[in-house]
Amino acid sequence: MNDVSLKSSHPLYPHLFTPLDLGFTKIKNRAIMGSMHVGLEEERQGFEKLAAYFGARAEGGCALMVTGGVSPNIKGWLKPLGMRLTKRSQTKQHRIVTDEVHRHDAKICLQILHAGRYGYHPFCVSASAIKSPISPFKPKALSGRQVKTTIEHFARCAALAQESGYDGVEVMGSEGYLINQFIVSRTNQRRDEWGGSYENRIRFPLEIVKAIRAKVGKEFIIIYRLSMLDLVEEGSTWEEVVLLAKALEAEGVNILNTGIGWHEARVPTIATLVPRGGYRWVTKRLMGEVNVPLITSNRINTPEVAESVLTEGAADLVSMARPFLADALFMQKAKEERPEEINTCIACNQACLDHVFQNKRASCLVNPRACHEYELPPMAEKAEVSKRVAVVGGGPAGLSAAVSAAERGHQVTLYERSERLGGQFNLAMQIPGKEEFAETLRYYRGELSRLNVTLKLSSTATAKELSAKGYDHIILASGVSPRELSLEGFEEDKRVIGYADAIRDPSRIGERVAIIGAGGIGFDVAELLLHSSDDEPHDDLERYLDSWGVDLSYAERGGLKTPMPPKPIRQLYLLQRSEGKLGAKLGKTTGWVHRAQLKMGRVKMIGEVSYDRLAEDGLHISVKGEAQVLEVDHVVICAGQVSNRSLADSLETEGLNYTVVGGALKAGEVDAKRAISEGLRAALAL
Ligand code: NAP
Ligand code: SF4
Repeated sequence: MNDVSLKSSHPLYPHLFTPLDLGFTKIKNRAIMGSMHVGLEEERQGFEKLAAYFGARAEGGCALMVTGGVSPNIKGWLKPLGMRLTKRSQTKQHRIVTDEVHRHDAKICLQILHAGRYGYHPFCVSASAIKSPISPFKPKALSGRQVKTTIEHFARCAALAQESGYDGVEVMGSEGYLINQFIVSRTNQRRDEWGGSYENRIRFPLEIVKAIRAKVGKEFIIIYRLSMLDLVEEGSTWEEVVLLAKALEAEGVNILNTGIGWHEARVPTIATLVPRGGYRWVTKRLMGEVNVPLITSNRINTPEVAESVLTEGAADLVSMARPFLADALFMQKAKEERPEEINTCIACNQACLDHVFQNKRASCLVNPRACHEYELPPMAEKAEVSKRVAVVGGGPAGLSAAVSAAERGHQVTLYERSERLGGQFNLAMQIPGKEEFAETLRYYRGELSRLNVTLKLSSTATAKELSAKGYDHIILASGVSPRELSLEGFEEDKRVIGYADAIRDPSRIGERVAIIGAGGIGFDVAELLLHSSDDEPHDDLERYLDSWGVDLSYAERGGLKTPMPPKPIRQLYLLQRSEGKLGAKLGKTTGWVHRAQLKMGRVKMIGEVSYDRLAEDGLHISVKGEAQVLEVDHVVICAGQVSNRSLADSLETEGLNYTVVGGALKAGEVDAKRAISEGLRAALAL
């Protein structure tokens, strides 16, 4: 499809800003906001909140957005009381959302998602009664009659979406949900007309599309999210994917979207470690096989990547979901040639998917306004009184506070003790696969300058000085210091290294290492030490695909091959005192990835450890009371942090107005998500 001769005259992103003509309707640029459940769907006043959320992205230049998954019936629920569209009486509320999006000249499609055996409830159903490895509920197999009713429910849902003012629907046919469960023999062992041969197994999606098209007429967008790479055993072959794509086109689908990997696949497909645009090759294979436009997705997070994907002819459109959470004005800034002002999604999942998996409202680590547009004042709204504000500390909390306060019209001075901004982010971005954290610092630096924040680097603010300057308010974001351990033999032993030094200069660390503390930083340090070596030139994509067993040649079903992780360059021991799985507190959606990486690196993960002493022959520990010696060259301490808040007491003595945020407030649970959110909220409260 990708007709490059039609490209726009945009100086930076000519392909990205080329409209797409579907004949009966036009999409004004090539960026789609992909479907993402955000938790507002089930909240009180959810439709008003969704309208504010989608409206902000529509106003920010996104051409077409897809809602989170909406079930066509109760059995298709992802979880009990999830959003469904089954009755005419529900359409009025959806109008609140569609009207708001249309007010900003954008389009919105409703995603119809039947969870099948991924449904987290006892009435879940599937093609066959085969339990998924990620849900405790065994599904019931749909009877032949129930299959037909389910198809009718999809069509009814699409018709109701049309009545609600949506511009189209997206049929969720990937990620291992019900439709996908019909397509592959792994989950479809039926013997009737819906199972057996591939032709029979794909009858279900084809009948769904046919029934929808019959109900909605020709001038209504049908996007079908096609699983182009299942990444599970017994998944589809490439030939089968092409066959289905062609058959879907024949049934009247307008656009095919790319789905990568079932939820039960043991391959991370959207985490930070996935190289940018790392799955464009899959969509590219399908280009030319069908005439309908193709959308590609996964880890496209800047307009440059989006443009390069389109330029190389890998797709006709790009889908970005999380990048629009991170910055609602993504497309507007790209259009106005201000890409450096985009707040980039760092693919951490910490505030979006991790929240949704914990049944909490999604937001964004780098943009805590996301999904709170309804409650928080608009970004452009100024405070009634402009105050003189000092922010002490230039880590994530301080940066967020300074930028947010300046945006509200306050006069802000930012004090940072060291010579560079960024705090703990400067360490995080050294970790392999976490390089994206550098983008957040780039964003904040730009905003500080754009908003005329006075910057005082290498400057330790004292209460006396702050008092003398007569600030109206002080935001104390002085962060944390690593916890030091006073254990026998540790003092003055050069083998003992703090995590900050280990991250700054891993080359000084020997080949056998004990890491004390298995929190986020212990895992980070382990990942860094496993492979940090200057003499390892590698292609990021190749290395990622080899490590996780993804086959670029697509020779086998599901696109899998035997994983070939790089050989670790050190023997690591990761230790914790407490019981239970190591890394239990890591993110819901990424913890398994970190654990798997360490397993691949043959890291010995040991719990219930007590640290006895460090002696010449190594680190003496007891595991469940049994003594052991780990013969190691170095011991890296990753035992958490303590708050730096000594300034708070003197601010109190001076009688100054102040708010403490981030790690300075609470070191025990310090993380960037909380720090950035507290920075914003402190600024809004001024
Ligand atoms: P953390 O998550 O609190 O972990 C500290 C570790 O040190 C724990 O494993 C704890 O386990 C151990 N520890 C605590 N006190 C100790 C003591 N006195 N002696 C020996 N061991 C001790 O802290 P962190 O790893 O520094 O991470 C800081 C924050 O950044 C966390 O909120 C974390 O979530 C976030 N972060 C997250 C990620 C990620 O999700 N990938 C990455 C980096 C940082 P025991 O008490 O069982 O020994
Ligand atoms: Fe991206 Fe992280 Fe924000 Fe999610 S929380 S949108 S992954 S930056």
